[in-house]
Amino acid sequence: MYDNENIFAKILRNQIPCDIVYEDEHSLFFNDIHPQAKIHVLGIPKDPCIDFSDFIINYDENKISNFFKSIDLVITKLKIRDKGYRLITNSGINGGQEVPHFHIHILAGEK
Ligand code: 5GP
Repeated sequence: MYDNENIFAKILRNQIPCDIVYEDEHSLFFNDIHPQAKIHVLGIPKDPCIDFSDFIINYDENKISNFFKSIDLVITKLKIRDKGYRLITNSGINGGQEVPHFHIHILAGEK
């Protein structure tokens, strides 16, 4: 069951501030509060989904496609395509997921 009180849900409700990199009607991208690389951006769909599987199984193809295209848009905006980047999503206890709202980490700016 989705936890409405998770930190990213609060960010989406503007109850907690974040440093926005990109936003549209479907998604929000913001800088990670504890960056693990020179560039460390988190991308989240605005829908209440717990993790990757929840998003892929329970949301329609348009939303899924829009979200993944918005990741590419942010990659362009950050100018990291040429030198490269990592996309990571953690899921569940064994995946080390801390915040139970599906998110993609975009790491770049160094090896
Ligand atoms: P996870 O371990 O769930 O994949 O990643 C959660 C990420 O959220 C971590 O990298 C952590 O630094 C980041 N994070 C946790 N709380 C906040 C917050 O309040 N604001 C921002 N911008 N990032 C957060």
